Amino acid sequence: MENIKNCFVCGGEDFSLFKNCIDYTVSKDSFSIVKCNNCGFKFTNPRPGGNEIGKYYESEDYISHSDSGKGIINFLYKKVRNYTINKKVNLVNSLSKDKTILDIGCGTGAFLNACKENGWSIDGIEPSDEARKFAKSNYNLHIKSENDLNSYPNNSFSVITMWHVLEHVHLLNERIEELKRLLQRNGTIIIAVPNCNSWDAGYYNEYWAAYDVPRHLYHFTPETMGLLLDKHQLKIVNKLPMVFDSYYVSMLSEKYKNGKVSLFNALMSGFKSNRVGRGDINRFSSVIYIIKAK
Ligand SMILES: [Zn+2]
Repeated sequence: MENIKNCFVCGGEDFSLFKNCIDYTVSKDSFSIVKCNNCGFKFTNPRPGGNEIGKYYESEDYISHSDSGKGIINFLYKKVRNYTINKKVNLVNSLSKDKTILDIGCGTGAFLNACKENGWSIDGIEPSDEARKFAKSNYNLHIKSENDLNSYPNNSFSVITMWHVLEHVHLLNERIEELKRLLQRNGTIIIAVPNCNSWDAGYYNEYWAAYDVPRHLYHFTPETMGLLLDKHQLKIVNKLPMVFDSYYVSMLSEKYKNGKVSLFNALMSGFKSNRVGRGDINRFSSVIYIIKAK
């Protein structure tokens, strides 16, 4: 285990315990989330190091990397995913005329394949061997492993996306510097992460599925995301909601809290979360940050 001594955002050394959460999907172990007393940034601490984290992804329930899931949650997840992919492609189409995109943590490549069909020159990075093989056999995409990220020349991409990925990256500040290096002048970075200031996070408390310890190393809010980016001379130019995440996260949270999924309760929670989010973008379950260099 790795014990973090300095806050990733402000370098502060003074933390207080925010919450203890259980890893419901794989190990059933308990992990602490701490909050920096200076800037408010929340992160899992201590955490499994880069060479220890692999075993916490070894579960059939961890569906982001596989398309073999069964059951109603997986069924709905796939239906919604197709809709969401279209929304994501429309978003990147609106951002850039020079269609060169890098998707980091691209999983099985469904989003990148849709970009390709929309005329984009695509590159993808994915740490899971299994997901990369799937991308090759299913979409004929050549996805690179994480170690290859530094092999791309400077200013290679007009758009770089990380959909629910940054919260998994061990070298947080180094990764953001790498994004800046790879981004063309006037390019756009898109980072989507869960928001622990959301209505559903407050409602489900330690059972909130998007804490997802220890795989989620950081627990962002719009405020702390802004502070982190500011440090790297980046700025948030727009924020957008991921309206289905509230339903999906609520379903999983119901399961963790009550041992079973109450579809009705999950739909109610998702609906309430989105209603609050419509009044205040900073309260959505997950937020898409549209980012530019300062
Ligand atoms: Zn801090």
